[in-house]
Amino acid sequence: SFHKSKGQHILKNPLLVDSIVQKSGIKSSDVILEIGPGTGNLTKKLLEAGKMVIAVEVDPRMVLELQRRFQGTPLSNRLKVIQGDVLKTDLPYFDICVANIPYQISSPLTFKLLNHQPAFRCAIIMFQREFAMRLVAQPGEKLYCRLTVNTQLLARVAHLLKVGKNNFRPPPKVDSSVVRIEPRKPRIDVNQKEWDGFLRICFNRKNKMLGSIFRQKSVLALLEKNYMTVQSLKFSQQGSTVDKDTEMGVFGLGDSNVDLIEDMDDDEDDEMEVEDSDAVGEASEFKNKVLKVLKEGDFEEKRSSKLTLQEFLYLLSLFNKAGIHFS
Ligand code: SAM
Repeated sequence: SFHKSKGQHILKNPLLVDSIVQKSGIKSSDVILEIGPGTGNLTKKLLEAGKMVIAVEVDPRMVLELQRRFQGTPLSNRLKVIQGDVLKTDLPYFDICVANIPYQISSPLTFKLLNHQPAFRCAIIMFQREFAMRLVAQPGEKLYCRLTVNTQLLARVAHLLKVGKNNFRPPPKVDSSVVRIEPRKPRIDVNQKEWDGFLRICFNRKNKMLGSIFRQKSVLALLEKNYMTVQSLKFSQQGSTVDKDTEMGVFGLGDSNVDLIEDMDDDEDDEMEVEDSDAVGEASEFKNKVLKVLKEGDFEEKRSSKLTLQEFLYLLSLFNKAGIHFS
């Protein structure tokens, strides 16, 4: 019997398995990471195509079944099975990742992979259709969201294959898609905490004008607090050579990435821009500083739902240049 909670939907269409393996572009020298091998339908083809398969599987019964399947065959010495939750496992080196995963781990797994070093060549992953479409969305499209921009910062993403429910046993409730994720090399140089704080604010309402988002009292209060902190740090470090950017450090995986999917459903239309009630009379110096940055880059009337990755990076750099920080 299958465990629903573990997202156990086995691929039963051999032609589809072939097609996934073929589209993966596996080389005979590749170390392949497979996540959630299950009974091994995909694993078998991966072993035939690559040099080695490292398979991470959480369910001990599946691990046993997998080992039994390849025992005594020439493939078995090129298969390494790690029993455990992939999200809690230190991943080994791999060239390429191929996986039909349980959909509930889509977001944290994507960012775990994208923060893995050294970066792999590419990952070919089956996702729920809607999640896949969010990953590949372009500015202005309905599914363009914070998850999209965060992923595209780290990788190029392409849709490879639509997969209907009936290719699985038991069939899941939703349709699926296979996506290719290629980590950017080199990485785009941006402080991960700054970026995350910045995007959270921008996508709080993705259809609202940035001018109106950055006039909100709560946003201004947060940014002013950060500003004061940075200013006082600068003051206390005058003459020293400490560089704030290097100090803030590594481009790491924040736990915050786990909830990336939460504020994605934002289809509300903000055509009418109402002046915030809290904005009255408080034309503070700091507020003007923030608005000046938006004006400088011509962002005041733009909306996150239509900004490109490059525009987000540019706006963040303008803020940072003015001493305005998001972490
Ligand atoms: N790859 C197989 C196939 O295509 O037929 C099975 C895919 S099934 C959708 C997902 C597999 O991932 C199951 O075998 C399940 O036990 C395993 N799994 C679920 N959660 C996991 C986790 N956190 N870490 C590793 N494997 C997990």
